[in-house]
Amino acid sequence: MDLSFIGSILEQGDWLLSLYVFAGALAVFILGRYLLLLSPALKQTQQLNVTAARERAARSYYPPIRNRSKFWGLMTQLVVFLLVIPFSVTAAPQPWWEILLDIFIILMVYDFFYYLVHRFLFHDGPLGGPLKWVHAVHHQMKNPCRMDSAYLHPIETCLGIALYAATIGGLALFMGKFHIVSTIVTFVAFSAINQHNHDLMEADRFPLKYLKYMSDMHHVHHARFIGGNFATISLFYDWLFGTYDTGNGWGKHKRA
Ligand SMILES: [Zn+2]
Ligand SMILES: [Zn+2]
Repeated sequence: MDLSFIGSILEQGDWLLSLYVFAGALAVFILGRYLLLLSPALKQTQQLNVTAARERAARSYYPPIRNRSKFWGLMTQLVVFLLVIPFSVTAAPQPWWEILLDIFIILMVYDFFYYLVHRFLFHDGPLGGPLKWVHAVHHQMKNPCRMDSAYLHPIETCLGIALYAATIGGLALFMGKFHIVSTIVTFVAFSAINQHNHDLMEADRFPLKYLKYMSDMHHVHHARFIGGNFATISLFYDWLFGTYDTGNGWGKHKRA
């Protein structure tokens, strides 16, 4: 049997570069966190969320669910960095505008598929919400804090990461490999924005009040299982498809 095609596929993969993406994303997370916490307002936000997290950690049912989710999240990331990123990343030079455009495209395509999965698989809809029972774990938290972003059924954890991997891997097939910077930025962005959406936050000044608005809208989503605001990166698709829910009544989203 001729297995040479396996060799030619493996030749396409760059595992060292994939390791650099992982290390780079970790470095951006640690450095970004350090820099953001220099802001007194964000430091106060952190304290608010740490207090809420301590209260949750004391509930007997909470840590096992969160730990199980984190374990399967790490396993899925390992698979993604072994099987997807090596085939979709390049260090070949690209103009800065192309890197910015790629970041925008990856995040918007990811957000579109996240919107579809969240609205039609995790919540009620024409498909009957086949994975509603999975998502119900996350919605146990009616007024979430940052730590609740990882309070998920493992199926939801794996699906969220797999969606990012499918987006970047699928787009790479059509658009060519993405620059290492685009890959690191989008990986950090989709994780950090999801965490931030769960932040308890008090801010009434520019620019932080816009960050607070984003997390407020996700809190509106959590407060009731049958609202709107299904996207995660932006509210664009909710606005486009009429599920933007400001929390005042039903927003534009009407259900049968
Ligand atoms: Zn939901
Ligand atoms: Zn949530």
